[in-house]
Amino acid sequence: MNILVQKYGGTSVGSIERIMNVAKRIIEYKNQGYAMVVTVSAMAGETDRLINLAKQITPQPDGRELDMMVSTGEQVSIALLAIALHSMGYKAISMNAYQAGIYTDSVYTKAKIGKINTERIIKELENDNIVIVAGFQGIDDNYNITTLGRGGSDTTAVALAAALKAVKCEIYTDVDGVYTADPRIVKEAKKLDEITYDEMLELASLGAKVLHSRSVEFAKKYDVVLEVKNSFNNNSGTIIVKESKKMEKFVVSGITCKKDEAKVNIINLPDRPGIAARIFSELSNNNINVNMIAQSSLDDNSGINNISFTVSREDLPKVVKIMENLKKELGAKDVITSNNIAIVSVVGIGMKTNPGVAARMFSILGNEKINIEMISTSEIKISVVIKEEFANKAVQLLHKEFELDKV
Ligand code: ADP
Ligand code: ASP
Ligand code: MG
Repeated sequence: MNILVQKYGGTSVGSIERIMNVAKRIIEYKNQGYAMVVTVSAMAGETDRLINLAKQITPQPDGRELDMMVSTGEQVSIALLAIALHSMGYKAISMNAYQAGIYTDSVYTKAKIGKINTERIIKELENDNIVIVAGFQGIDDNYNITTLGRGGSDTTAVALAAALKAVKCEIYTDVDGVYTADPRIVKEAKKLDEITYDEMLELASLGAKVLHSRSVEFAKKYDVVLEVKNSFNNNSGTIIVKESKKMEKFVVSGITCKKDEAKVNIINLPDRPGIAARIFSELSNNNINVNMIAQSSLDDNSGINNISFTVSREDLPKVVKIMENLKKELGAKDVITSNNIAIVSVVGIGMKTNPGVAARMFSILGNEKINIEMISTSEIKISVVIKEEFANKAVQLLHKEFELDKV
């Protein structure tokens, strides 16, 4: 069996008309002889609508109940797509995570897929069915429904492609592929024909929501052939590749920004071994992902330092509680948080061989009087924390500075 996995995002299934178009596209591939496994998201806006219902009751709804509710969005769209395919004379069956055998851990609202039991899917494919699997959801060992984090349907698709040894995984969305920056922020952004897994991983985890970052991790780990395409046209998309001579020619491949982060400053901490370990183990035990970390002290002999880090804004209330408890134990003076920040990053494997990217990036921001609050680097990216109000401007200026409009 030549299995092809396709995923259609929220806008792509946002109306009955769109669902009918998606069904036609699936049939084209089915008629080419592929065994089709399709993942879909909830119809555009539905997940937000559902979350908002719960938040009208309490700002921090229980995770288990939230997942129970929010997973219904995908169940509506899979059934509608199956009904659309039936109406066109094709055999199709929709499956939720339980039926499709998608097992996760029990970390509600950001669960991780552990294994997929593909038996039932294979059986349905052998019966000539087009199999439509609910994106974004899983079940834990106690059959509780979990979800994979916002944008998680991409990860469902890639995990299915890996488990089924599919020939390819195609992610259909509302833009032509992966761009040099979010086309909603930079009008001149250019679609990339290809990008490496490593660059895509940085871009996705630093705000380019065109792919869920876990989906790129899966693709890289299991060698899934991954392509991002537009469901609204037949333009060629972006292929995610292992290595690319083409990309190495460019110093920078993409600019991205993340606006759903918050910064936490712990002020006047005793400068002692074990303090950072205590803070970050406590956060990790509570399933809080920390993105950037910086530590600074006035001078080596002061015995005092400050630690700052960023977390997802969603996690901030939980983090504040944890830090309030830790403050006394650690003997810190204060914990200050700010929501009003963004992380802006430049990413490119070309940076490995081209020095001076950081200097160029910081000069551009400095010239615009944009203050840099934190910096973090890897071999292929430089990220800065700045005030959120300057984020779009910074992305636009950096896009121009690194001549990404000429890619
Ligand atoms: P879907 O519902 O199909 O999953 P998303 O809204 O999650 O779609 O992701 C697609 C959106 O990602 C695009 O509309 C675009 O605005 C945004 N985006 C952010 N950064 C990038 C980028 N570098 N390339 C392409 N799209 C990007
Ligand atoms: N429907 C979910 C969300 O809006 C998952 C997804 O679209 O990938 O985040
Ligand atoms: Mg998405």
